[in-house]
Amino acid sequence: MAEKIKGKGVISGIAVGNILLAGQNLDSFLVAYKPRSKGTEKKKAAEALVAVAENLKKSIEEFTAQGLKEQAGILEAHRLLVEDPSISSAVDEQIDISGSAPKAVLDAYEANAQIFEQMDDEYFRGRAVDMRDVGKRIAKYLLGIKEPEIAGKVIVAGKDIEPSVIAGLPTDKIAGVILGVGSTTAHAVIIAKTRAIPTVVGVGDGIIHIADGDPVILDGETGEILIRPSDEEREAYNEKIKEQEKLRAHYAELKDKPAITIDGKEVELVANIGSPADADAAVKNFGATGVGLFRSEFVFMGKTDVPKEEDQFKEYKAAVEYCASVTHGEGLCVIRTMDIGGDKPLPYIQVGHEENPFLGYRAIRISLRRKDLFLPQLKAILRAGVYGKAAIMFPMVINVDEFLAAKQFVEEAKRELAAEGQKYSDNVQVGIMVETPAAAVMAPVLAKYVDFFSIGTNDLVQYTLAVDRGNAQISYLYNHFNPAVLRLIKRTIESANKEGKWAGMCGEMASDPNAAIILMAMGIKELSMSAPSIPKVKERIRNITFTKAKEILDKVMELEDGDKIRDYLATIG
Ligand code: PEP
Ligand code: MG
Repeated sequence: MAEKIKGKGVISGIAVGNILLAGQNLDSFLVAYKPRSKGTEKKKAAEALVAVAENLKKSIEEFTAQGLKEQAGILEAHRLLVEDPSISSAVDEQIDISGSAPKAVLDAYEANAQIFEQMDDEYFRGRAVDMRDVGKRIAKYLLGIKEPEIAGKVIVAGKDIEPSVIAGLPTDKIAGVILGVGSTTAHAVIIAKTRAIPTVVGVGDGIIHIADGDPVILDGETGEILIRPSDEEREAYNEKIKEQEKLRAHYAELKDKPAITIDGKEVELVANIGSPADADAAVKNFGATGVGLFRSEFVFMGKTDVPKEEDQFKEYKAAVEYCASVTHGEGLCVIRTMDIGGDKPLPYIQVGHEENPFLGYRAIRISLRRKDLFLPQLKAILRAGVYGKAAIMFPMVINVDEFLAAKQFVEEAKRELAAEGQKYSDNVQVGIMVETPAAAVMAPVLAKYVDFFSIGTNDLVQYTLAVDRGNAQISYLYNHFNPAVLRLIKRTIESANKEGKWAGMCGEMASDPNAAIILMAMGIKELSMSAPSIPKVKERIRNITFTKAKEILDKVMELEDGDKIRDYLATIG
């Protein structure tokens, strides 16, 4: 019998492979290393920094040429950590202490990593792993360690996987990912998601039961991991894999079919993306008919300064063009203006210490005060609109005034573009995320002004129920079927439709097939989700009538408890 550990399945699919433990231990190499004089060690360290930066540059160019923007972006962030002007003096100081260049490099980056690890914010804490990763990369160069050759498919496992490990492996070599920490914002998970690699996070200390080379079966749906499975267990999973393959083939057939009910009600199924490459994959591989949420803050991450209008324009234009290439559906690309703050701070935008970052200076609140950031972004989106259909969406809006103020910036951006003689689209829709209870309650009023609503349930659930979206201790309360949440959603959709506007959803709830049918019955026009979820939602919609979906909704709205609603919906599959 296999040893079993369990985590949280975040990217579904069954993976079979041998473990590749991320995070090679360098201790024995460090002991064997013979340092020379301190002067020579300093010279070697300086040369290593230059060489590693050069190697990273080459990899970045290769990834960019292959359209792997995410990987290129992460390595670019790593290159900046290598070229950080303060690092060489920190390394020299460490050489004065230990006398060894590789050890000094590791110690210098470790010191930085520890500072980041102390931070309150999950995003910054997550970046500590990038620092250790970079330190290790340079130390390995100094120690002359080559990366191991990989035979067959591997399941990459680690407490906190270094992003370069995943970024550096070709997709066809990675069967799955296991992460000790529970973070879904870890770079490793972000990459796995866009590549649809089955992933389990949050296995905690379970990770110590896994050794390098162990054969493992991982279920990205249930979060189950079988270490050294027996023949019978393999056999049982082989059945599941066969079913999965059948399902994949079936889903592939669905790719170009519409998400339409048996009696002809159609819903747009679109993708949540963080880069133009995601849009390309979503359209080509999963049949997305557009993008319902381009999280533009990803364009701002991994950089040392605010990206210029021109650089942003290139990214938005590429995403808009990929959406315009769809053969079915609208091909709309909804670009959300930067949602910075909360769990997504940026090193170059000072927010200051906040007791409650999720209730603090974030998203549209920053944009409205920082014209220097907001206008270039709006101009870039308006320009991108020329190449297809673009929409602008403001995050975290709580009242009409914010929307009107933001809209004025859109007008100002148009005036500036006209004065500059730049081409821009005058047909860019302007809407808001409904992710605060205030916006949902005021939906009948807001609907008069906006072109559309997109319901952000990730935040709407947390703010409505006062349940932190990332707190595992109270995750049992975080339920998008809670009647309070459902009433706000229904109100939002109906308010939009009453004013002749459209409503969509881009929170995680949209990827739940059971939720999809009741949302459709409420009158939602578009559901936006991470692309690999599109086929299963489409399948559900194509196998039900709109009449039946409305009956189910009526019953759901009578139930008084979120768990009961979830259970009821699970029984009617
Ligand atoms: C949401 O809140 O539902 C949403 C889609 O935005 P994010 O997850 O980026 O906060
Ligand atoms: Mg949100």
